[in-house]
Amino acid sequence: MHTDKLLHTLADARREVQAIRPDPSLGPHPGGLTFTRAAYLAADPRHWTAGAHGHADGRRLCARLAERLRGLVHPSWSALADHAAGRLDARAARLLTEHTAQCGGCARRLADMKSKRDGVLRLEQPCPLPCPAAGRPPVELTSADRRWQALLSEDGGAEGRLVLEVRTREVPPSRRLVGVRLRGAGGHERTRFLVLREDGEALRARAAFDLCTLREALGARLEDAVVLALDATQLTAEDRVALLESLPGPEGDGRERAAWCAWLGEAGQERALADEVRRLLHEAPRRLS
Ligand SMILES: [Zn+2]
Repeated sequence: MHTDKLLHTLADARREVQAIRPDPSLGPHPGGLTFTRAAYLAADPRHWTAGAHGHADGRRLCARLAERLRGLVHPSWSALADHAAGRLDARAARLLTEHTAQCGGCARRLADMKSKRDGVLRLEQPCPLPCPAAGRPPVELTSADRRWQALLSEDGGAEGRLVLEVRTREVPPSRRLVGVRLRGAGGHERTRFLVLREDGEALRARAAFDLCTLREALGARLEDAVVLALDATQLTAEDRVALLESLPGPEGDGRERAAWCAWLGEAGQERALADEVRRLLHEAPRRLS
């Protein structure tokens, strides 16, 4: 979110609080929505729980805060991908539609997601972690257009890792960023970004997740996994942490670092980028070197 907009919204919110406070029905307000929480819910309406809905429905201030931030925080690429595939429940879909009706940039992001939805890789059914279970064959994912494949396998060893390998034949250089979202019970998620690189006839990318950490974050079961090619216009300010954490470290594979550098250079040329994303793409190469 742009800083000026944030300050403006804070000032508005403060005025609203002062105006509304005389209302005795508001009373003390345990468990109210914080700014961070409201931004998190705005970025992905699937994060709303029934309890949070019930709370916000009964509290004018929380409802106003959520509504205001829904206009300012752009929905995540994964929420848009699920919306494009018709996989959101009615309430989450309505909240996203409210945003895209007001935000031309996100209306274009959603249209882009709809046009590419057959190239999305998804886990067909939930699977326990490790996935596949020890000793079982890898789990294969194929996109509806059959142009994308992925394999989930377990990399044994003392610690144990979940390895995701993605491959495709052809994709323009600006779209070689791959977003990975793993989802566990209760909506807990892990997001990782990969960059495809040429390897023989195909383009490939690989990610390894420490199983212990993954189970701590997601629980004992992988409910859902979404893997898809993104261009930089699909990124939002909320992707900053996950993108920077996804950059290969100094000990990483040289070819992987080169692929990231090439993508960052290409993506930085994209004209329709939000300022925050442009700053992020300028910041990332410094972290790589
Ligand atoms: Zn937007």
